[in-house]
Amino acid sequence: MNEQPSFSTYALPDNPWLSRIRALAPAFAERAATWDQSREYCWPNVKDLAGAGLMGMSIPREYGGGGATFLQVAQVVEEAARTCTLTARILVEANMGGISAVMAYGSEAQRRFAAPIVLAGGKPAICITEPEAGSAATEMTTRADKKGDRWIINGCKHWITGGGVSKLHLIFARAIDEGGTELGIGGFLVYVDKDKGADPKGFEITRRERTMGLCGMPEAELRFTDLEVADDMLLRTPSGMKRGFAELMTAYNSQRVGAGTISMGVAAGALDHAKRYLLEREQFGRPLAEFQGLQWMIADMDAMVHASRLMLFEVAQSAEWNSNRFPDMMMAARAKAFASECSIKVVNDALQMFGARGYGDLEPLERMYRDVRMFTIGGGTVQILKTQVAGSVLGIKPLQTRDGYKQS
Ligand SMILES: Cc1cc2nc3c(=O)[nH]c(=O)nc-3n(C[C@H](O)[C@H](O)[C@H](O)COP(=O)(O)OP(=O)(O)OC[C@H]3O[C@@H](n4cnc5c(N)ncnc54)[C@H](O)[C@@H]3O)c2cc1C
Repeated sequence: MNEQPSFSTYALPDNPWLSRIRALAPAFAERAATWDQSREYCWPNVKDLAGAGLMGMSIPREYGGGGATFLQVAQVVEEAARTCTLTARILVEANMGGISAVMAYGSEAQRRFAAPIVLAGGKPAICITEPEAGSAATEMTTRADKKGDRWIINGCKHWITGGGVSKLHLIFARAIDEGGTELGIGGFLVYVDKDKGADPKGFEITRRERTMGLCGMPEAELRFTDLEVADDMLLRTPSGMKRGFAELMTAYNSQRVGAGTISMGVAAGALDHAKRYLLEREQFGRPLAEFQGLQWMIADMDAMVHASRLMLFEVAQSAEWNSNRFPDMMMAARAKAFASECSIKVVNDALQMFGARGYGDLEPLERMYRDVRMFTIGGGTVQILKTQVAGSVLGIKPLQTRDGYKQS
């Protein structure tokens, strides 16, 4: 881990976007159960986010965005996640990960192309995982063959967040030159918006998963059959394609910080609900808040949320100190692993405090519990993240190399 300047939450930045998300939060809270039950994507929330300048708030001002830092985005994500996990997820995808990769590594034309799509509400999707390449992502088989000024992509990705509603897709594939030599893993930008006539041939959604939580967010399988992508839609990272996967994953770290922040925000929201209920509900002639067994649970929950927030905001801020302008990889792995595990415990304990009421749908706890469960899996499982952290602490190499090549 790099030496970092000290971090203090007492020095949090002014954040003009916080008042905007707080103004929208009551409506998001009211609608959250709707998307959970209908399994529909929350287009009205997207419209509100775009109207408030929160879609693409991290995009630099010269491309029409707000120029927000990752720390400012994280603060907004926490606020949204307290009430609606789905909305918080959209915020992360519209400000971290794929779009930050385009803004950092994209050509001028790619930036000018991608920014308005996101600002108008078209969240990007990152397409890495394949049926036979999950944690071992570098074992992906999707390939892009060079043919003149185009790339021909063939393969299958699954568990792609927002598959079917996303407009901009960053597809990771093995790039093969015309002589059949593998160049490395590249990121290819594919725009899909059927309403606007962007319906690329060979790009197909072949399945939607039925998930336990975050039910309004489609998780889809995508198939590419001779999908043609123009050469100028290949994201060229600074060190060339051999290091392409590693550099694209550096950008992906911001998405990991976002995912950890969502889980922390859901836990903070659950803690708020628990506080309210312990003061209001009476048993044995006194408020639940007076029972020491529950007080100790509350103290642990508060500590877990606080520690998660400190780690996440610290790594979000590390982007301002790092030369590549992205959050530190090891700090991101540590913070996401910690926050995602803590959040499951915090939400579960909050649900417990409501007794039967927590198990039913009069309160949002059961939905929050289902929603938060995924963050120890999606975006890198806790086992893989902890392997990275342990590798850093012990000074040994993790199994998976970061450039897409196995080392003997
Ligand atoms: C809701 C959701 C959204 C997602 N969104 C996206 C997306 O938008 N884009 C995308 O590309 N992918 C996405 N994913 C996929 C996600 O990144 C993968 O699920 C994840 O990387 C794990 O891969 P896997 O599911 O194939 O599990 P596997 O890799 O098969 O792992 C199975 C289990 O074994 C463990 N394991 C594997 N290898 C090791 C090891 N070396 N040491 C210790 N334990 C190990 C894992 O931790 C896990 O517990 C999403 C997943 C979910 C659940």
